[in-house]
Amino acid sequence: MKPAQPLLRVTALSKHFPIHSRGFFSRQVGTVRAVDDVSFDVAPGETLGLVGESGCGKTTAARTILRALRPTSGRVEFALADRCVDLAALPERALKALRPRMQMIFQDPFSSLNPRMTVGAIVGEPLVIHRMARGRELEDRVVDVLRRVGLKGEHRSRYPHAFSGGQRQRIGIARALIMNPALVVCDEAVSALDVSVQAQVINLLEDLQDELKLTYIFVAHDLGVVRHISRRVAVMYAGRIVELAPTEAVFKGALHPYTRALVSAVPYPDPDVRMNFRLAGEVADPAHLPQGCAFHPRCPDRHAPCDKVRPDLRPLADGRRVACHLHHKP
Ligand code: SF4
Repeated sequence: MKPAQPLLRVTALSKHFPIHSRGFFSRQVGTVRAVDDVSFDVAPGETLGLVGESGCGKTTAARTILRALRPTSGRVEFALADRCVDLAALPERALKALRPRMQMIFQDPFSSLNPRMTVGAIVGEPLVIHRMARGRELEDRVVDVLRRVGLKGEHRSRYPHAFSGGQRQRIGIARALIMNPALVVCDEAVSALDVSVQAQVINLLEDLQDELKLTYIFVAHDLGVVRHISRRVAVMYAGRIVELAPTEAVFKGALHPYTRALVSAVPYPDPDVRMNFRLAGEVADPAHLPQGCAFHPRCPDRHAPCDKVRPDLRPLADGRRVACHLHHKP
């Protein structure tokens, strides 16, 4: 893969979970299509937003990309300095060697931090596990990364409970960055924080991206959060991407009715963005998807083919991609 090409190319990625009947003669009675035929690229240094309601499959997609879950099918090509590897097909041992290059930052920093470990031990633990540093070098790297995320070197001897929510998220970021990753998946990384602290952490993530040439996938349920950090956004519904477009284009004129509903739910949209409906009904159950477009039971624009023919994600002339019969003839 040449440098100008994507750092990450996801092609037709699916993650399905079998549903089994109870009892001694258990058999498969259904399938949860948590992630279904998802494709996108992420360029080096880019931030791609991955958004949708709870249960839309965005976190499962992120975890499958990083091989925390084994994909059912599809490819996840990841560019290294001299070659490209398919993470979906990589044996565990080869995958382990690549783990430092792909890190995740979680929503609730406190739950992912061991309260009995000092901050220094928490942040340095990945280096110890991967046998990448010890002794003085380990100590120096911990101090360096704490400073990069806006904490102090002396904070390393304290415990997580001594820190505010925003500081604990900085500790989580430091723990991810100490491995010198190329790709960082931020899974609802600022969702649990107050709005003012959210802004500080997003600014920090942007500064670190410039400084360390990081590539982000920013998973969030709130399009408003993604707007400030992502150049492009992929909107997921019922395990599939329904719209993939530049973030500002989505805010100026979302194409898919589901994306329009998400934009309308952002607390402080631009005054010139006039969205006049709210989304009714529950998110589709990935174990019992309706025929045709999975969104049709909730869609204010559904029409004749929508409950029969499933729309594919296809490009428009301007490069945006949308899965909707309003924009493509079935
Ligand atoms: Fe609505 Fe039909 Fe488009 Fe689905 S395909 S989003 S039901 S208009």
